[in-house]
Amino acid sequence: MKKIGLLGSTGSIGVQTLDVIRAHKSSFQLVTMSFGKNIEKGLAQINEFQPYIVSVETKEIADQIAHQLPSHVKLVYGAEGIIEVATYHKMDLLVNAVMGSVGLKPTLAAIESRIDVAIANKETLVTAGHLVTQLAEKMGVELIPVDSEHSAIYQCLEGNIEKEVSRIILTASGGSFRDRSIEELKTVTIEDALNHPNWNMGAKITIDSATMMNKGLEVIEAKWLFNIPYEKIDVILHKESIIHSMVEYIDGSVLAHLGSPDMRVPIQYALTKPERLDMYEGKKLNLWELGALHFQQVDYERFRCLHLAYEAGKIGGTAPTVLNAANEIAVSLFLQGKITFLQIEEIVEKALMMHRTSNSPSLEEIVSVDKDTREKILSYIS
Ligand code: NDP
Ligand code: MG
Repeated sequence: MKKIGLLGSTGSIGVQTLDVIRAHKSSFQLVTMSFGKNIEKGLAQINEFQPYIVSVETKEIADQIAHQLPSHVKLVYGAEGIIEVATYHKMDLLVNAVMGSVGLKPTLAAIESRIDVAIANKETLVTAGHLVTQLAEKMGVELIPVDSEHSAIYQCLEGNIEKEVSRIILTASGGSFRDRSIEELKTVTIEDALNHPNWNMGAKITIDSATMMNKGLEVIEAKWLFNIPYEKIDVILHKESIIHSMVEYIDGSVLAHLGSPDMRVPIQYALTKPERLDMYEGKKLNLWELGALHFQQVDYERFRCLHLAYEAGKIGGTAPTVLNAANEIAVSLFLQGKITFLQIEEIVEKALMMHRTSNSPSLEEIVSVDKDTREKILSYIS
């Protein structure tokens, strides 16, 4: 029985992680969980899974639910609460599925406590990849990818990575606006952007997919997870999202991972690897039905955010922190109807241009650059 902790239980990845746990009750037990504000969903999950510790975003939310919990549940909140959930000493694996750089400190705390982390929260690796990976190495802790592309690469990697891998190739669906011109993008709405053709995900990552910042964050995520230089990370458009990513070797062989676009598959693999369990529901791949798979080169002018992410990644230091913070705040402004879709990339570019990068930043520096970037953008917009 593997004991699991889960950050972001009420989100898209969180709910699907609980689907996997529910489907394999004899293999997994949920021991701790955290969520933000979604009381209704959170309470239902607590009643069903009976974790020992639960954390919520604020004291106000904790006060609202305290009297409704089973008596054995310890309720905590805020930045300290989420760390308590992430470091519960009897836990075998932490699944980090919160959204945004708020996931950084609990990830570091879990690693510090020698707990393996299945990481969906890509913003953490983007904003502080060097700190997270160095600490994981020092503590002998494994970071297991949940993101479908990185899970695919993880499953296709073999041999001497430095000597034998010539490229990793991330596939990108192109998001909700794959076939629209820059001219058409000027007038797209929030509803248009939230309508992803292949994947059903949280709002922020769906917008990131439409701008292709998601792929940019994934390029940086791949650099840190697999310790591979940016020159060896490529992106290709593949509209069906059936090949989840590929690894090319120096002899010209390419290993690809295929499957239906269903996040429960990489989530489950992160919980069981290197073993596999039954796919309990979902749809197995039917290549006859599909008929054909398509591939296309990426236009980096059209998908400006992907270009900016490569640039920030190559500069390194605090540049990816700025890229991520600017993007998080710009996407939230877009979702509130305060800026247009194309202003997202403008804001990210401007934030990067105005920033003077500092190399090998400490945790304190990253937290301060993250906060500064957000504040500057908010004051610029208002
Ligand atoms: P959602 O927005 O659906 O869920 C986010 C979760 O985090 C919710 O449980 C939310 O709680 C919680 N949360 C947000 N802010 C806070 C906070 N300040 N304190 C505590 N909890 C908080 O996101 P997704 O599930 O879509 O994505 C999660 C992560 O996984 C992201 O990093 C994303 O990039 C990555 N990812 C997602 C994929 C997908 O298919 N969705 C695929 C690959 C990666 P509440 O709602 O209760 O407020
Ligand atoms: Mg992905």
